[in-house]
Amino acid sequence: MSRIHFIPVGGIYEFGNQGYLYGVDDEWILVDAGSQFSSDDRTYHAYPDYSFVDALGEKLKALIITHNHEDHLGGITRFMTDHPHVPVYCTPFVEAHIGLKIAQQDLRLKLKRHPVSAVPQGQRQKIGTHFNMEFIAVNHSTPESSMIYMETPYGNVLHTGDWRYERNPVGKDRMNWKRLEEISAHGLTALVADSTGILNDTTEPLSELDVKKSLFHLFRQTDQKDKVLIATTFSTHTDRINSLCEIARHLGREPKFVGTGMQANSGVSKKCGFLHEKRIVADGWMNNPKSFYIATGCQAEENSAMDLFAQGAPLKRPTCILFSARVIPGEEEKVAAMKAVLRAKGYDLIENDATHLTHVSGHAPRVDTERLIQLMKPRIYIPIHGNEDHLKANVRLGRKLHVPCPVLLEKCGEQISFSKTSEPVSEQLYTPVKVVVHSKERSFEKRFFEKSAGKNRKRT
Ligand SMILES: [Zn+2]
Ligand SMILES: [Zn+2]
Repeated sequence: MSRIHFIPVGGIYEFGNQGYLYGVDDEWILVDAGSQFSSDDRTYHAYPDYSFVDALGEKLKALIITHNHEDHLGGITRFMTDHPHVPVYCTPFVEAHIGLKIAQQDLRLKLKRHPVSAVPQGQRQKIGTHFNMEFIAVNHSTPESSMIYMETPYGNVLHTGDWRYERNPVGKDRMNWKRLEEISAHGLTALVADSTGILNDTTEPLSELDVKKSLFHLFRQTDQKDKVLIATTFSTHTDRINSLCEIARHLGREPKFVGTGMQANSGVSKKCGFLHEKRIVADGWMNNPKSFYIATGCQAEENSAMDLFAQGAPLKRPTCILFSARVIPGEEEKVAAMKAVLRAKGYDLIENDATHLTHVSGHAPRVDTERLIQLMKPRIYIPIHGNEDHLKANVRLGRKLHVPCPVLLEKCGEQISFSKTSEPVSEQLYTPVKVVVHSKERSFEKRFFEKSAGKNRKRT
């Protein structure tokens, strides 16, 4: 029987390493080429096991990228190097980030002929003879994030990527509910859905505008003439960075970017028209009370701006550090330890807690996933992107909403085969073995702070 085949290559029962294969007859496409890193050890990088993908040879027709986050895009140059003839499709913003990665890794010469096509959201793209693909705009925590809609002869699939619904957007991106309605009206065979926010049971999701207003309030409260102000957030969160720049200007300060990721990613955001403020790179320690520093290191990543600041910065002035980010699961201890060092040094810390709103997640809470399922009415529901609790809770939600066939994936390498009319059938094709590599790369932050602090900087 003719069916669509779906195989998670990585990204379930783990954080990071997103990669999902879709196959129809002898044509396959891979969605996302993520990686996994350890904030304890910046030389550690892991990638999905591509042995099955490699064996597809010319049957692999494309790699499609949903958005610019490392767990979806971090393995792109490695993938391109190993698969020189597989075209990459992504939105223009993601294309610019791929260009940045290629340049940062000195791969321009090697990858200059690799086919990378920018496909704007809402435009159809034929891939092979069986796939008709379209990027659909959603909200997330980085610009131009997309769901992928795929039409095939044996049914159609909506792959959500990472998404949330932003009720009060502060940036350009708008979730395209209208297009989703049209797709639903044609009948959706399978919905393959992000599970990250499924345990969030709020009924009134906060918006990026709520965060912006709160940040305004918090910084206004703490602002003093001689005080150093620092905000740390994710370097790809352009909407948040725009809000912080606006607040800085409102306080009469110049926003300055600190850290490799912040400087490089904001450069791409500026080039693509998403960052409003001109990008000003900080020089020296973060200790000028006329500036407003926007820094990397909200997860206490080794050698990030905040980590090095905690290790070495001398306290010369009253300083407020605001964490505008969630703590990524698994990093709690490390972030807490860094915050303890910063507090011991006498800095004021503001973080997201019951009394201070400094962040909102980029992933749909349960109430919005519910809305998506009810709108799309898929026959088959396959939760992805989460650990065991997330995947199971998302399957339960599918059951509760009477999706005919909710599927709990067992592990990576499992194939789920289905069509417009057939039941999904599961088969474990192979057992992936994660690929771990150690890079010797020394971070820009490290070089920057070493230069700024001189050779005699003391570590505490
Ligand atoms: Zn993700
Ligand atoms: Zn993401």
